[in-house]
Amino acid sequence: MRIARSIPELRILLKTLKERSGRIGFVPTMGYLHEGHESLIRHCKTRCDSVVVSVFVNPTQFGAEEDFSRYPQDMERDQALCLNQEVTALFIPDLKEIYPTGFSTFIDPGPMGEVLCGKFRPGHFRGVTTVVGKLMNIVQPDLAFFGQKDLQQAAIIRRMVRDMNLPVELVVTPTIREADGLAISSRNAYLSAEDRQRALCISRALFAAEDAYRSGVRSACKLIDTARRLLTDLDELQYCELVDALTMDPIGGNVERLAGLCVAGMVRATRLIDNVLLSEASDPTNLLSLVGLPE
Ligand code: AMP
Repeated sequence: MRIARSIPELRILLKTLKERSGRIGFVPTMGYLHEGHESLIRHCKTRCDSVVVSVFVNPTQFGAEEDFSRYPQDMERDQALCLNQEVTALFIPDLKEIYPTGFSTFIDPGPMGEVLCGKFRPGHFRGVTTVVGKLMNIVQPDLAFFGQKDLQQAAIIRRMVRDMNLPVELVVTPTIREADGLAISSRNAYLSAEDRQRALCISRALFAAEDAYRSGVRSACKLIDTARRLLTDLDELQYCELVDALTMDPIGGNVERLAGLCVAGMVRATRLIDNVLLSEASDPTNLLSLVGLPE
C-alpha cells in the first residue's frame, strides 16, 4: 500500500495506476475506520482494479458548535485496516493541502442540502459537496463508493455528479450494523454503555416501520407514526421523515416509489442518524447507485 500526503504525490501514483489501464475506485472517508468503511472498500475491490481511500476530517462540513475539534482519530489503526484490506493507495492530506490560504470557491448543493440534516446543520452539505467535488477532481476515479447510512449525502452527491457532469460512476452500498441493530458510525465512540442502549431505539423504530411496510402498510403517516412512537429514548428527536430516496422530497399519502425513512436525534451531545429504505425491490440499495456515466 502506498501512502500519499500531498496532491502531487498522489497524482504521480495515480498516473502509474491509470497507465496499467485498470479501473480506479475511490472511497472517501473521515477516518476512524470501522466495518462500514471496510464494507465500502470490499465493494470497491470487487468492482475495481485499484482502490484509493482518503482520510480527511473536513472542517467545512462542521458547524461552529459541532465536533470538528474532537472528531475521533486513529491514523495508525486506519493505516493497518487499509493495509489489511489491500488498499492500493491511502491519501491523507492535511488541511492546507485541501484548503490553501485564500480558498474561496464552494459547490452549492441547492435545496436538497437544506432539508432533513441540512435544517439542523446549516452549511453542512455545502462543505460535503465541496470536499467530495475536490477529491473527485484530485483522484479522478472511475467509480466512487458511498454508504446508504448517509442517504441524504448520497442523494446530494448523485445529483452533483449529474449536474456537474463528473465522469464517475457512483455506487451506494448497504448500511453495516452491529449485531443488535445499531448503525456503525465513528461517532458511536462518543457513547457510554448506557447511551448506546438508548441509541438502539433508532434502529428498533426503523425496523418496526420496515416490518409494517412489509406487512402491507403503505400510508406514510402510519409508517412515520410507527417509528416515532419508539423514539422515546432520545434526548432530542430532530426528525423522523419519509422521503423519496433519490430526491429527498417528502412523501405524503402512500409510499409508491423508493422511499427512505430517515431519523436524526441526539443522545446527550452525540448526534446520530440512520435510515431504512422502503421498497418492494429485493435489493433497494442498488437503486441508489448512478449506473453509467452522467450525460
Ligand atoms: P464518514 O467517514 O463517516 O464520512 O463516512 C465515509 C463513508 O462511509 C460514507 O460514504 C458513509 O456513508 C460510509 N459509512 C459510514 N458508516 C457506514 C455504515 N455503518 N455502513 C455503510 N457505510 C457507512
